[in-house]
Amino acid sequence: MYLFKKVADLQAHIGTLSTQGATIGFVPTMGALHQGHVSLILEAQKKTDYSVCSIFVNPTQFDDKKDLDKYPRTTAEDIDKLTKIGTDILFLPDAEEIYPPGFDFDFRFNFGAMAQHMEGAHRPGHFDGMAQVVKRLVEIVTPDYIFMGQKDFQQQALVKFMLKEMDSKTQLVRCPIIRESDGLAMSSRNVRLNEKERKLASLISKTLFEAQKEARQFSLQEVKRRALRKLDIPEFEVDYFEIVDAVSLAQIDHFDDAQSVVACTTVRLGPIRLLDNMLLKEAF
Ligand code: AMP
Repeated sequence: MYLFKKVADLQAHIGTLSTQGATIGFVPTMGALHQGHVSLILEAQKKTDYSVCSIFVNPTQFDDKKDLDKYPRTTAEDIDKLTKIGTDILFLPDAEEIYPPGFDFDFRFNFGAMAQHMEGAHRPGHFDGMAQVVKRLVEIVTPDYIFMGQKDFQQQALVKFMLKEMDSKTQLVRCPIIRESDGLAMSSRNVRLNEKERKLASLISKTLFEAQKEARQFSLQEVKRRALRKLDIPEFEVDYFEIVDAVSLAQIDHFDDAQSVVACTTVRLGPIRLLDNMLLKEAF
């Protein structure tokens, strides 16, 4: 595996590969890698000639400074995992490489209503920071494909929209959520859960799996009511449970109002926010 810390070195290497006609698959991450991240890299390896993973804990997308400070950093283990699975290139920049002097921090991508609810409503500025770093990384890596997890449903929908608006050559591939054996969606933040919280956390995916079945039987309002009732335990604070069009992210009232429908939720256990979602209906 090649490891690059400097933009210029990475670009020189990718430039050589591209002139040889090779395709590039890119997986941006914030490290503390788990099987979910690994699945994205394996997908990139299947679909493209060279897999590029980046690890960069982007400060501009953290609305909560404490969350940034506590974000797990496990670079040595990450390098080991990436090497073992045969990743071709790791980009490990520091903040000055991503945000050099003169960087336009005022850049705001206009996502309209897509970014104003769910995560957008609960993490002010988060999507501005996310869009800033993804745009910068895509411009550096110039991949043919970017692989992103369904786990962060709103994020991947926004990036897909942004790439289209930018007329970028990069296409987004959405990859399925990898779960623990009890259903909990894998997340770098799961290591911060204590034993009791870790057990309770599986109620989130259980509720979503049930919602997937209930969507065939009940109105969406009823599906949502039932889900909120199940998640109503003292240890949980539900930021939102929304059922939306999986492409436009617009809220819908009826199952037939969209070709693809997704239920998205974020539940807080103390300071830890756990995101999960479930496609209730998918267009092929
Ligand atoms: P992060 O390091 O949390 O920023 O995530 C980097 C990428 O990994 C994003 O595209 C996430 O959606 C994806 N990802 C995170 N958790 C999972 C998971 N459990 N299954 C699949 N992809 C995931």
